[in-house]
Amino acid sequence: MKIAIIGAGAMGSLWGAKLSPLADVWLVDRWAEHVTTMQQKGLRVIGPDGEAQIVRVQATTRPEDVGRDVDLAIIFVKSPGTRWASQIAKTLLKPDRVALTMQNGLGNVETIAGVLGADRAVQGVTFHGATLVGPGRVRHAGAGATHLAIPAQNPGRLAEIKNLFEQAGFETHLSTHLDGLVWGKLVINAGINALTAILRIPNGLLLEIDSAGQVMVAAVAEAVRVAKAKEIELPYDDPVAQVRQVALATGSNRSSMLSDVVRRLPTEIDVINGAIVREGERMGLDTPVNQLLVWLVTAIEAGYELQMTRDE
Ligand code: NAD
Repeated sequence: MKIAIIGAGAMGSLWGAKLSPLADVWLVDRWAEHVTTMQQKGLRVIGPDGEAQIVRVQATTRPEDVGRDVDLAIIFVKSPGTRWASQIAKTLLKPDRVALTMQNGLGNVETIAGVLGADRAVQGVTFHGATLVGPGRVRHAGAGATHLAIPAQNPGRLAEIKNLFEQAGFETHLSTHLDGLVWGKLVINAGINALTAILRIPNGLLLEIDSAGQVMVAAVAEAVRVAKAKEIELPYDDPVAQVRQVALATGSNRSSMLSDVVRRLPTEIDVINGAIVREGERMGLDTPVNQLLVWLVTAIEAGYELQMTRDE
């Protein structure tokens, strides 16, 4: 199977490292230093147990190097790049083959469907965690299950993808729809990501700073109200206990939105808290806490350039 992983940050690199020994895998990324390091030295993967391994991978900054005979595209860019990645996928994929997203947030699969067609856009959810520790170096922070939604067309091919993922060591399940799991992650991310990015604190401090914890709980409560209005069944009974447990378990971690803000990169605010606001509006529900988080993170992003001008 020929696979193009478009967006080879932490997660794309992890998937690339695990799949490369089993298939003809290409990692496509715009970060030239990361790509050059992978080409010259291989990809260094540090496992959850701390053990490091070097894996040979095919990596490029130029999608045209991959060829136009790809069987599966895996989209692992951050959400502001999803349209770009979908357009690349369209040029690389064989006509009837699918693009899979395991990105966080709501709306990425719709963006992919807008470019490739609904029958060629597959929603996935993964509970693996990874961090890029430098160019050509990824840490597999934690393992968990991966779920793929069977599209109306091509169900057979999805079984093939599941088998390959399992051979690569990813526990994989097929479902008819994944709304509960997508929203399960969304609700938690809505509570943690924007707030840690605004306050520039690791996740665990949300539990130690009382007022921050209150904002986290309020953002989660709004998201849950929207999910309930949409009749989404969340994969846990007590969302507040769940968000606290995640903040505790990932206490020393920087959320991915905080990493984006520190690197002055566009964040995924629009598909996380922004999605809660939009879905709330659709259901006739106000979501003032999520709206405020959206405005603040959007203002931080708008400030990148202004701050840079001032710094000079
Ligand atoms: P990432 O931030 O590691 O990478 C995103 C892009 O930024 C890549 O193109 C990468 O090359 C580039 N980049 C990273 N570090 C850089 C640096 N120092 N300088 C310049 N460019 C740099 O993204 P990710 O964590 O792999 O996330 C991809 C998608 O997967 C997102 O939608 C995310 O929400 C989702 N996701 C992530 C995790 C996780 O644990 N990381 C888990 C589940 C889902």
